[in-house]
Amino acid sequence: MIVETSAGLYCETGGFHIDPWLPVDRALITHAHGDHAHAGSRAYLCAAAGETVLRRRLPGALIETVRYGQRLRIGDVDVSFHPAGHVLGSAQIRMSSRGEVWVASGDYKRAPDPTCAPFEPVRCDTFITEATFALPIYSWNSPSAVIDEILAWWQRNRLDERPSVLFCYVLGKAQRILAELRARADGPIHLHGAMWAMTEAYREAGLALAAADRVVEEMRGKALARSLVLAPLSARGTRWMKRLPGASDAFASGLMRVRGVRRQRAFDRGFVLSDHADWPALLSTIAETGASRVLVTHGWSDALARYLAETRGLETGTLRTAYEGEAGELTAAPADDAGGEAR
Ligand SMILES: [Zn+2]
Ligand SMILES: [Zn+2]
Repeated sequence: MIVETSAGLYCETGGFHIDPWLPVDRALITHAHGDHAHAGSRAYLCAAAGETVLRRRLPGALIETVRYGQRLRIGDVDVSFHPAGHVLGSAQIRMSSRGEVWVASGDYKRAPDPTCAPFEPVRCDTFITEATFALPIYSWNSPSAVIDEILAWWQRNRLDERPSVLFCYVLGKAQRILAELRARADGPIHLHGAMWAMTEAYREAGLALAAADRVVEEMRGKALARSLVLAPLSARGTRWMKRLPGASDAFASGLMRVRGVRRQRAFDRGFVLSDHADWPALLSTIAETGASRVLVTHGWSDALARYLAETRGLETGTLRTAYEGEAGELTAAPADDAGGEAR
């Protein structure tokens, strides 16, 4: 049902691509992260819940939407979108044709997230899964425990009159943190300019987030000394940081599970908070789908494919894609306070 092409995963029976990285006629989009939603295609289809964020990502694009669970006939395929629990509007795409069912997961997680509908297990014959954190070392603590750690770190810095700069993804992670902090924040929160548009898109979509102001040029000296400032990792080490003298910096990512990465990048703190499934959740999710064949896209794909073949007796394979996973953030080029990049 799905084959690899130079433009992305292609469904010939339906005549559409899923998350193509080159322009195509018809693109079905699992979610609005930059490595999954590329500009230039003639028409896009996404879950209705993700419309506001996808429109921010692809201004001027022809975007159609479908409600979670609603069936559409595209070519010879019955298509439906189901919650993936990854970011606002993220979806798994179910495809059914001639008695065969495939599900392309996009990115997903099983941990609770107040900004998106929880992952819905969908039975299928073939499951296309991500593998961003598909190693046994990756297992997550509960998000509420991580939020407790963030609050304690911020409070400690406030007492010392040091700004707390928390680096995180522009789309998804930042808004998830703001939603978690809504009832719990006890100090001012500020956003790097690159966080602004996507956060507004979440508010427009009706999400309840903690109040936050934008960091502006005039804020110097002690202006942000009590603030929690959310910023993209690409702002680290740029001139933008000059308005945050003495700041303590931290990174919120599943990558912070690995002490070596934390140390090598010299963050004051690392908070293990991911929008991807951890190792136990990947395995339990794959089992829940009932799939006899699993195709693995980005991340530790070979490791996961091999493990599933050897221990579960599943038919497995890997698919070559241009998706980056969470590691992309660490290698991204530095950028000053622009509106653009939002992975
Ligand atoms: Zn993603
Ligand atoms: Zn991805």
